[in-house]
Amino acid sequence: MIHTLENNYITYKENSLSGLQIISEDIKPLLIGRKEGFSMEKIGESELNIDINSITIGEGDVNILIWTQMHGNESTGTKAIFDLLNFLENPAELYKERDLILKECTLTIVPMLNPDGAKLYTRKNANNIDLNRDAVSREAIESQVLYDICESVKPNYCFNMHDQRSIFNVGNTNKSAVMSFLAPSVDIERTVTESRKDTMRIISSINENLQKILPGMVGRYTDEFYPNATGDNFQKRGYNTILVESGYYPKDYDREISRMYTFCSVVLGLFDVSKKNKGYNYELYNNIPQNGTKYFDIIKRGEIEYIAYQYEYSIKKDKLSIDLKEVNRGDLSKFIGHNE
Ligand SMILES: [Zn+2]
Repeated sequence: MIHTLENNYITYKENSLSGLQIISEDIKPLLIGRKEGFSMEKIGESELNIDINSITIGEGDVNILIWTQMHGNESTGTKAIFDLLNFLENPAELYKERDLILKECTLTIVPMLNPDGAKLYTRKNANNIDLNRDAVSREAIESQVLYDICESVKPNYCFNMHDQRSIFNVGNTNKSAVMSFLAPSVDIERTVTESRKDTMRIISSINENLQKILPGMVGRYTDEFYPNATGDNFQKRGYNTILVESGYYPKDYDREISRMYTFCSVVLGLFDVSKKNKGYNYELYNNIPQNGTKYFDIIKRGEIEYIAYQYEYSIKKDKLSIDLKEVNRGDLSKFIGHNE
């Protein structure tokens, strides 16, 4: 399946979305006028009164909740989720797999939970709140929107879609972490509960397939417990949550390549859930290497000292602007630059 998905990706790709900044106006036309079976609903408004919408499809009893861009400047998941909607409409050679997903699952997708952050190209919302640290107090309107949709869907599985910075490598290797996953903990002891095992099992299955097209470039996040984090909190409330982090593929600054791997990861996860195959060994999750932080965007190696730079993105005069910022200097011999 994975090779067919990859080979047909061009037919699934939503060509109207590209680049790093995706805002509410970009996705609105893609939510309306979809084929029969899709239903769109406004589920709330952001702090700056931009609509937050959900789209639902499928008739199965396994409820899936997917949300993207809770961090406004992390748009890869949103691009991938519209590729997913295209796949669900027209799966090319994969009708059997698509039909099984829609027969077994009901998908509720919230593309762009934080439209204000998307517009301002910030991680946080318009009131400077990090939604991913606001799951308990829910000070942000958007956190309450997510809470409410979760309580109404009562998901068996959640996909919490993020982008990770370009600093991450896989394990001890020099390979960039193009995709990373986490089965969040439910307590500080990082107890492997039955529901966490289920999440670990799905991630292991995604990873096994992803390795066939992205060998050595899949990592795992540290499972330290963050009680205020959305994934940890959801997992604790009994909603199995898979954290998906889209990362940097060499030279892919617009994250269009990792977008494809993100799309594949979600389809693989949904297909795995639909097969209801609980026999897969969840412990394989622990074999996915943890992420390291070996990378800078650029390292300039001089005679005596090295200088490391990272790209910084911000909105200037209504346009996304990229600046290079010095972030480290000295003996950086243990680090690697994506560019040297
Ligand atoms: Zn994030």
